[in-house]
Amino acid sequence: MAKILCVLYPDPVTGYPETYPRDDLPKMDRYPDGQTLPTPKGLDFQPGAMLGSVSGELGLRKYLEGLGHTLVVISDKEGPDSAFERELVDADIVISQPFWPAYLTAERIAKAPKLKLAITAGIGSDHVDLKAAIEHGVTVAEVTYSNSISVAEHVVMMILGLVRNYLPSYQWVVNKNLWDTTGGQGWNIADCISRAYDLEGMEVGTVAAGRIGLAVLRRLQPFDVQLHYTDKHRLPEAVERELNLTFHPDVESMIRVCDVVTINCPLHPETEHLFDDNLLGKMKRGAYLINTARGKICDRDAVARALESGQLAGYAGDVWFPQPAPKDHPWRTMPHHGMTPHVSGTTLSAQTRYAAGTREILECWFEGRPIREEYLIVDGGKLAGTGAHSYTA
Ligand code: NDP
Repeated sequence: MAKILCVLYPDPVTGYPETYPRDDLPKMDRYPDGQTLPTPKGLDFQPGAMLGSVSGELGLRKYLEGLGHTLVVISDKEGPDSAFERELVDADIVISQPFWPAYLTAERIAKAPKLKLAITAGIGSDHVDLKAAIEHGVTVAEVTYSNSISVAEHVVMMILGLVRNYLPSYQWVVNKNLWDTTGGQGWNIADCISRAYDLEGMEVGTVAAGRIGLAVLRRLQPFDVQLHYTDKHRLPEAVERELNLTFHPDVESMIRVCDVVTINCPLHPETEHLFDDNLLGKMKRGAYLINTARGKICDRDAVARALESGQLAGYAGDVWFPQPAPKDHPWRTMPHHGMTPHVSGTTLSAQTRYAAGTREILECWFEGRPIREEYLIVDGGKLAGTGAHSYTA
């Protein structure tokens, strides 16, 4: 029987929710490219429930214990004395979410001789050392597409938030301390709009036009912007025509002409610290940068410097390194940012899909059926499926 170690984020500080704002989720069978949503044989949770926190257990306990397996759910994941390090030594399967990543480093993989499967409940398996997984014969799988649209919606929200200066204007409404500085008027309109523009007409580019990048382009098209992209592989001509896209063979030629840049590629050796002082310096002065892909794609201090100098007009995203970000992480305090914790891909809607996808992967594993190609990152000692297409080890 297997031991499954599941690392999830802590429950809400007010306790596991007893009620939710809405009663149901929209029904969907397929993603925009025709891929089917997860199709597990069974589900033991209510769609829309909190599944990604410790008490939610991704809805897996009944199923796994019914098969005689052991499920251990923890959130303590950092450092040598963490529950994760303790429990990992005899675990057969590890499940982790990118929002609360259990970093499976080469050292940790070496300490887990029984480990055979690492599942990312979500998308993006960069918290797993893929080279070490390949060397130790660990299969790595993620729930491709499960939260791509969730992230694309977040990107559009953040672009509009930055360009229109939403968060500082909101602060004028809720911050009671500002009351006195306006002579009792309650807000200052000129302050709110001194950094506010329209998105219409701007040049907007995405680094990568995969599932998220393309969904962002599609959602932005009605705003009457000029759309750009760069990617390792070119999109079909019909899509380029439909969205009136300008393709750039490299990131640099794209960012030179864009007012807004959104990053939607995976983190791998090719993209780590891609946005450093040098590249940021080649962007248009006053450009906006939105990164919901992975924190390490940007050089932490270079981003803060670019905001302070005015080279960037705004930076937003939900991805950091490490996660959770330390108290003194400069992205918490740098000017003109619109950061959130890592939340874009773990809405209650997204959790329903990736919990179902995790269950599907586990059912395949235990029943000896192949895991969908599109879910595979590493298998049989090499990059496989989606991993072979989009990652480098
Ligand atoms: P996809 O695999 O659909 O798309 C990734 C795209 O990136 C592919 O088109 C790939 O190219 C392209 N790419 C890879 N390397 C480069 C490069 N060096 N330069 C330009 N393009 C490159 O993944 P998704 O769109 O679903 O997700 C993208 C990333 O977003 C994930 O890897 C993850 O890191 C992040 N993410 C963040 C979430 C969050 O909650 N914030 C949630 C989900 C994902 P090609 O296929 O043509 O080779």
